[in-house]
Amino acid sequence: MDSATDTVPRSATRSATALSLRCWGTRGSIPSPGPATAKYGGNTPCIEVMAGERRFIFDAGSGMRLLGLDLLAKGQPVEATIFLTHFHWDHIQGFPFFGPLYRPSSRLEIIGPSQGDRGEMDVQSLFAGQMGPIYFPVPFQAISAECRFDHLNEGSWERDGVAVRAMRVRHPSYAVGYRFDFAGKSICFIPDNELLGESYPTGPRWRERLVEFLSGADLLIHDAMYTEEEYPSRVTWGHSTFRQSVDLAHEAGVGTLLFYHHDPERTDVALAAQVDRMRKVAAAEGMTLRIDAAAEGHVLDLQE
Ligand SMILES: [Zn+2]
Ligand SMILES: [Zn+2]
Repeated sequence: MDSATDTVPRSATRSATALSLRCWGTRGSIPSPGPATAKYGGNTPCIEVMAGERRFIFDAGSGMRLLGLDLLAKGQPVEATIFLTHFHWDHIQGFPFFGPLYRPSSRLEIIGPSQGDRGEMDVQSLFAGQMGPIYFPVPFQAISAECRFDHLNEGSWERDGVAVRAMRVRHPSYAVGYRFDFAGKSICFIPDNELLGESYPTGPRWRERLVEFLSGADLLIHDAMYTEEEYPSRVTWGHSTFRQSVDLAHEAGVGTLLFYHHDPERTDVALAAQVDRMRKVAAAEGMTLRIDAAAEGHVLDLQE
């Protein structure tokens, strides 16, 4: 896998099995722009994955606005499948600002876990509620793109050689992580997940099943919001530490771990120090895992 570069071809020259990823938002909880977060970015979760010519989007945080501008600038009809991990503000606040929603030529498939004790809150209603007049001035009915909403709580979605699996994770509400497999490569995306701490209704053998779910993934993008020192005062908030995510990635035999859902208070300097600290820990313990922190604008090419 290449290190971060903005020069990965994103044009018609892509091969049918090319797999690349771009981070449009990496921050957790609330957008946190400013000079102290310029390197890793202040926008909330949004990841674009290109599998051949097919476009997938994971989460609809504030980074999604920039992705929308990028897509409209290409001047082509936009087609994408969008997977949501859950419906906390930081994961959906970019949705009403995603320009392709207001183009009749766009075709969007939007998939996420239904909510409520009996799964009675479907994905479309959740987005329509977000765009109700109390919260947002433009009504949901103004969307002119061809949209298809569906739910995926646990199970899989497959089409044209792409397999996406969802697994419930430990986080308030019904939140999932995704595994994306294409052309022999795999990307796992789990932005919000509390690996330790209080109990969640995630069923038996959860940790074991999670390790199986992630097994051998080329890339894992995982919640690493807190330091070990911070975590004790944030138990039940639904997030993990740098160290916990390193241990998980190592246990699952992952190739590269990208820390994600950066704390809004974490400056670039402090985050780079954590990356350095965790690389030293991993080296001292003989782990072969590559470690970095996801950065806005970061492009990874997995099919090298
Ligand atoms: Zn979040
Ligand atoms: Zn959340």
